[in-house]
Amino acid sequence: MKDIILNLLELKNVQHIKIAGNEIRCCCPFHDEENPSFSINLETGKYICFSGKCGKKGNLISFISEMTGKSYKDVENDLQINLENIKYNSIIKDTLDSFNEKKEDLNYIKYNNYKFIDIKNLQDENKILNLINIPKNISDIVGLKICLTNPYKRRLVVPIDNNVFEFRDITKKSDKKCLYELGIKIGNYLFSIIINDKDHSIFLTEGTKDAMSVAGFGFNACCTFGINISKKQILKIMQLGINKVYILRDNDEAGFISSKNTYKEIKKFINCKIIKYPKDFKYKDPNEITNKQEFLDLLQFNNLIEVYNYEK
Ligand SMILES: [Zn+2]
Repeated sequence: MKDIILNLLELKNVQHIKIAGNEIRCCCPFHDEENPSFSINLETGKYICFSGKCGKKGNLISFISEMTGKSYKDVENDLQINLENIKYNSIIKDTLDSFNEKKEDLNYIKYNNYKFIDIKNLQDENKILNLINIPKNISDIVGLKICLTNPYKRRLVVPIDNNVFEFRDITKKSDKKCLYELGIKIGNYLFSIIINDKDHSIFLTEGTKDAMSVAGFGFNACCTFGINISKKQILKIMQLGINKVYILRDNDEAGFISSKNTYKEIKKFINCKIIKYPKDFKYKDPNEITNKQEFLDLLQFNNLIEVYNYEK
């Protein structure tokens, strides 16, 4: 990475290059100047121009893209940036390395340039599902896959909508947990799992994993890919025939704020209720809840016992 950055600066004939540790200080390659006000980190590729003239800042991919005129996506592909910083969790690595891509009996699914394989074709499906805390039946319903080609290689693929996927880092080693294809406005989509279509209520979570866990406990669930909710997402919930939304955001500060905002947005259209956590609740999001009883206890805490014929 160091060489790439230095070569590009040299190629552009950038002046006053000074290296101090991992930082380079030099004249800004993006605007004319005499005194160096540009800084780039050789390890991370993060850069910023302090001059107030051009305001350029970004990461290694955008730096190379700006310097070479290549598109962001092409640079990303070239660098296989998603792989570079990832030291795979040994379980996932062992599991994925243990199957041979060329095996003829595997059913690949191809979408654009990506090649997917169903998790159930991996040699140790349960290891992966345990690691991400998703029940097998839900994995089957959702159709979880692993991507085999760059730039999302080895990421968990969560099908969201027709030809829209979430590429999820399950190794916890990448700084970007979820990636979507360039140009996809994820706020226009709703990830939903309807377990019981006679039940017209749904739990609304932040992430796909949270929604899959809740569905695993036997309840309808959907997620908004983060703390915000869009009008389109509310419309999609209504199109599912839902008349009661249980807002189940993460058990953290952002989640509390999001709950209130989500409530305000949804209540204009559908009856809704915020699910609150007890003060001593030990998990920070619904995906961490390990068994159904703990989830039922949470419902009881929120006085939702009757709704679900809670059985002791
Ligand atoms: Zn500048």
